[in-house]
Amino acid sequence: MVDITTDVLIIGTGPAGSSSAALLSNYGIENVVINRYSWLANTPRAHITNQRTMEVLRDLGKDVEQEAYLFATEQELMGENVFCESLAGEEIGRMKSWGTHPLSKAEHLMSSPTLMNDLPQTFMEPLLFKTACSRGTKARMSTQYLSHMQEDDGVTTTCLDRMTGKELIIRSKYLIGADGGNSLVAEHENLPIAGKMGVGGSMNILFKADLSKYVAHRPSVLYWVMQPGADVGGIGMGLVRMIRPWNEWLIVWGYDINEPAPVVDQKMATDVARQLVGDPELEIELLSANTWTVNDAYAEQLSSGRVFIMGDAAHRHPPSNGLGSNTSIQDSFNLCWKLASVLKGQAGEGLLDSYDTERAPIAKQIVTRANQSIGEFGPIFEALGMTGGSDIDNIKANMDARCGADDQAEAQRSALNAAIAFKKYEFDAHGVEMNQRYRSDAIVTDDQDEPAFTKDAELHYQPTTWPGARIPHAWVFDAIGGKHSTLDLVGGGKFTLLTGLGGEAWVEAANTVGDALGIEIASHVIGPRQAFVDHTGDWAREREVSDTGCVLVRPDQHVCWRSDALSDDPSADLTRVMSAILAL
Ligand SMILES: Cc1cc2nc3c(=O)[nH]c(=O)nc-3n(C[C@H](O)[C@H](O)[C@H](O)COP(=O)(O)OP(=O)(O)OC[C@H]3O[C@@H](n4cnc5c(N)ncnc54)[C@H](O)[C@@H]3O)c2cc1C
Repeated sequence: MVDITTDVLIIGTGPAGSSSAALLSNYGIENVVINRYSWLANTPRAHITNQRTMEVLRDLGKDVEQEAYLFATEQELMGENVFCESLAGEEIGRMKSWGTHPLSKAEHLMSSPTLMNDLPQTFMEPLLFKTACSRGTKARMSTQYLSHMQEDDGVTTTCLDRMTGKELIIRSKYLIGADGGNSLVAEHENLPIAGKMGVGGSMNILFKADLSKYVAHRPSVLYWVMQPGADVGGIGMGLVRMIRPWNEWLIVWGYDINEPAPVVDQKMATDVARQLVGDPELEIELLSANTWTVNDAYAEQLSSGRVFIMGDAAHRHPPSNGLGSNTSIQDSFNLCWKLASVLKGQAGEGLLDSYDTERAPIAKQIVTRANQSIGEFGPIFEALGMTGGSDIDNIKANMDARCGADDQAEAQRSALNAAIAFKKYEFDAHGVEMNQRYRSDAIVTDDQDEPAFTKDAELHYQPTTWPGARIPHAWVFDAIGGKHSTLDLVGGGKFTLLTGLGGEAWVEAANTVGDALGIEIASHVIGPRQAFVDHTGDWAREREVSDTGCVLVRPDQHVCWRSDALSDDPSADLTRVMSAILAL
């Protein structure tokens, strides 16, 4: 007997599940989300929140975006990435990170209307979850997914109601497995997972202590501690991570994965904290401690029939580059409008295949990037002479050697500078965060060549309206001079067409084709005396088509087609393109 019926059942209220619930509710789709626990994340795992994720929050509503900033540590306090012997000990190096270097900051400001920030998962999850529930999501806590069965017209999922101990049967048209790194949904669907789980051991120690005197003058979210043993297991180095400035902290320290995981009790936690902070008298208020493993695995297939996986269920990797929760939320943004279109009868089920085609390469890319970042600490240890065994006196002598006035010391210093600068690929990889370009049947390129990257694609975002890329951001202005990002003109669950003066026939075509297909295709003419004016010329520089051309944008803000100029038959073109994208 079926207890609950819904359109989409979501397993998990983490960043992936909660954002899916919020987006689906925003699109008017009935959904139920469950979590086996009685509440949301109880530790602040994810924190680095990149601009693309903030754009998803902004799409949910400027109130949602603003609330995130309210609880976040602002970008300016994120960036003095410090490498040191301990917080109280000698500083070894530093690099500006997370878009705070002046050159990087300019790129951030030019790329998006949003700002990167540090928002611990303990704040992000409640924000997304509250948004979902207040917009229609039905949430059930203490409800554990056990199994599911796919049928031709839906999915029947068996859960355990942990409050009553009884089974609960939920019938849905689609099922999303957002159930984290040990995903049972992925396992039950036999989705192929490439790579390895448990390649390194790590412990988290969450505590309160006022460390202002060590850090307030060099504000950062991450303080990297280089001590003997710091490169064993874990995320490449010992880490003291700011949770709240400057009195709540998370230490991440590695352990040898080939040994049993240590039991982190109050004594061990205090010892590790004292060692990394460098204060033998330090007293901490221990909030929690746990061990976890570094994974290097990604799903090669993200869906099967009516079942989809996303977030850590699909990509399992270390926190390096801060990509986990960000990518999870971005997975949702890709899938949810597609589910909504199909459920509203506006698209064929074929559209759903594009989720796998578009997001599986991203899963592989970010897992590879995050694991590579761990290895890229190696040159720092090498430059300091910390790799030749565990003899502490020897290590100390090697590190001291860099302070000499001889050529060898200078070479050592320059190797250290280069090794630290190279960590830009972890701590300031704006391209990894913003350059995602999709290729699938839900994108129509009309054989236009993809523009080559002119700078390092991992470090630098390169705007383009080439179909598949996210629409570039430019400020345009309304009649009273108020500014709006081009990203604000699109999204919100709708397709949007942007054109310029002379392209009005595209707008007519968008209305005609939208009416014929039973969907709304929003449109804007950007130009003088129009609702939005490109006073600065930035949009004209970014759009890569002429005034009479058009850029068609999907609900997830990715360009899906463009035309360089007005065509002979705009309606026929839009009908062809929309039919292909919507798999009609
Ligand atoms: C120390 C650390 C730092 C990190 N820093 C960052 C960072 O800076 N930026 C970043 O983007 N990411 C970071 N991450 C990664 C981030 O935490 C994860 O990528 C993110 O939580 C994944 O979200 P998710 O929703 O896919 O899964 P999860 O957050 O793991 O959520 C899974 C959900 O599924 C539920 N669930 C599981 N099984 C069942 C079941 N059988 N029945 C019902 N419910 C179930 C769980 O209760 C939970 O609600 C970090 C991780 C760690 C450990």
